[in-house]
Amino acid sequence: MTSAGTIEDAKGPAELRLALRQMLGEDIVLSETEEMLRFCRDWHGDVTSGTVAVIRPRSTQQVAAAVKACRELGLSIVPQGGNTGLVLGAIPDAPERQVVLSLSRMNRIRKIDPADFSAVVESGCILSELKDAIAKMGMFFPLALGAQGSCQIGGNVSTNAGGVNVLRYGMTRELVLGLEVVLPDGSILEGLSTLRKDNRGIDLKQLFIGAEGTLGIITAVSVKLTPYPDHVATALLGLASLEDAIKLYRRARRDCCDLMSAFEFMPPLAFTLAQEAMPDLPIPISAEYPAYVLMEISGSGLIDIDDLMQRFLEGVMEEGLVLDGTIAASQTQARNLWLIREGMNEGQAKRGTHMRTDISVPLSQLASFVEEAEKAVSEALPGAVSVSYGHVGDGNVHLNVLPPAGSTPEERIQLIYRAKTVVNEVLDRYTGSISAEHGIGRLKRPDFDARLPASRRKLLTALKHAVDPEMIMNPGCQLRF
Ligand SMILES: Cc1cc2nc3c(=O)[nH]c(=O)nc-3n(C[C@H](O)[C@H](O)[C@H](O)COP(=O)(O)OP(=O)(O)OC[C@H]3O[C@@H](n4cnc5c(N)ncnc54)[C@H](O)[C@@H]3O)c2cc1C
Repeated sequence: MTSAGTIEDAKGPAELRLALRQMLGEDIVLSETEEMLRFCRDWHGDVTSGTVAVIRPRSTQQVAAAVKACRELGLSIVPQGGNTGLVLGAIPDAPERQVVLSLSRMNRIRKIDPADFSAVVESGCILSELKDAIAKMGMFFPLALGAQGSCQIGGNVSTNAGGVNVLRYGMTRELVLGLEVVLPDGSILEGLSTLRKDNRGIDLKQLFIGAEGTLGIITAVSVKLTPYPDHVATALLGLASLEDAIKLYRRARRDCCDLMSAFEFMPPLAFTLAQEAMPDLPIPISAEYPAYVLMEISGSGLIDIDDLMQRFLEGVMEEGLVLDGTIAASQTQARNLWLIREGMNEGQAKRGTHMRTDISVPLSQLASFVEEAEKAVSEALPGAVSVSYGHVGDGNVHLNVLPPAGSTPEERIQLIYRAKTVVNEVLDRYTGSISAEHGIGRLKRPDFDARLPASRRKLLTALKHAVDPEMIMNPGCQLRF
C-alpha cells in the first residue's frame, strides 16, 4: 500500500487502525476496543483514555517499521512499558491521533555475562524476571521498586527510576551501560556497549534516560551487574522523629561501612494502611513511636552482615537514638517487613483518590520541609490526613494527602488541587524538586512548565526539534513544544 493512498483512505481511527494492520500485520496491531482499553488506563485506575491502535512489535525491526508506518499515517506514538508509571506518561491524551506502542513482547534476555559483570536485555523484560534470571547466575541487578513485578527495564530507563537501593547503587542512569533506540525517523541507534569506560565524545545514551519516550523508543539495554549480596540483614526500628531518622541514616552510612542498601522512612499510620491492604500482615513492633525506619544492610563474600547490624543497633539503642527495633530472623520475616512498606501504598489507594507527591530536598532540610508542609496542609485542609514516607537517604519523600473519609469525587478533586498548591508553595521555598523519581509525564507537565528556567527550556526545545522534528514521540508528555 502506498503512503499517499493510506493517508487518503484512512480518515477515522478505525480506518487508521486497518491501515496499520495492513502495513504491519494483524498479529502486531490489536483491533478489539476492549483489549485496547487495558493499555489506556493508568495504574491507579483514576484515568482512562483511548487510542487509535495498540501496536505490539516482537523485534527492533518491527518497532522501526511501526515508527515509519505511524509517520506515514500522521500518527504520533506513546511508548508503553509495564504501565506502572504514576504520572500518565504512557497513556495517550489525544486518542484520535495517538497509538500506544507496547514493548511487552520484546522481553528476551540477550546475554548475561558474569565475567564482564553485565547483561544485555530487551526493553520489555519485566524487572523482577530480569533480576531473578540474573540472580540464578550468582549476580545482582540492584534496581528494586514496589512495581517490579510489572514494570519493564525499558520503562525504568525511560523514567530513570529510583527505588529503594538508590542510596547505595544510584538511580537507573548509573546502572545503564548502553542502549539500542529506534529514533523518530525509524532509524536504529545501536549503542549496546558493555564498556565501563568510554569517553569518546558526548554520551548520547544519556539523552534517552529519563526522556519518558519523548525522543525515541528504547528497544534494548545493557546494564551493570554486581555480585549477588547473599548476606542481608533487615531491621524495623522505632524512633522519636524524622530528624532522628536522618541522624541515624548518617550514622549508619559511616558505621556500616557504606554497606547499607536501603533506608526507608514510614509514619505509624503505615501499619494501619498496610493492614487495610493485607489484613493478615504481622506487625512485629509497637505502633507507639512517631517515626519508623526500615533499614537493610547487605553484602557478598567474607563480611559478617548480621554481626554488623547487631553491633550497630546495640550502639544506637544504648544512645537512645533508636527506641525500639526488630531484626528479621528469616527471609520470610524480612519479606513481611518489606510488605509493610509496599502495602502502605496499596492501603492509600484503597482509601480512594488522593494527592500524591514525589518530592526531593537536600537531606539536611528534609525534616523541616516535612514539618512545614504537613502543618500548612493541616491548616489549609482540616480533616485531610498527610502521610509522609519514602527514600529518606536520598532526600526523597512522598508527602501524600488523603481526603477525609466520605468525601465526594468532586470534593476529592478540589482537595487534591488545593493540597498540591499548598505543598508546592512550601517546596518552592526550599528549591526542591517536584519529581524526585517518577518523572513528569502528563500529570506534572503544568508544574514542570511553570518552574522551567528559560535557558533550560531553550535547550530542551532545540533538542526536541533536532531529534524529533515532526513531534511524533509522546507529544504532551513532559512539555508541549
Ligand atoms: C506500587 C508502585 C511503586 C513504585 N515505586 C517506585 C519507586 O520506588 N521508584 C520509582 O522511580 N518509581 C516507582 N514507581 C513508578 C514506576 O514503577 C516507575 O516509573 C517505572 O520505572 C515505570 O516503568 P514501566 O515499565 O511501568 O513504564 P511505563 O509506565 O509504561 O512508562 C513510563 C514512561 O516511560 C515511557 N516508556 C516506557 N517504555 C519505554 C521504552 N521502551 N522506550 C521509550 N519510552 C518508554 C512511557 O512512554 C512513559 O512516558 C512505582 C509505581 C508503583 C505502581
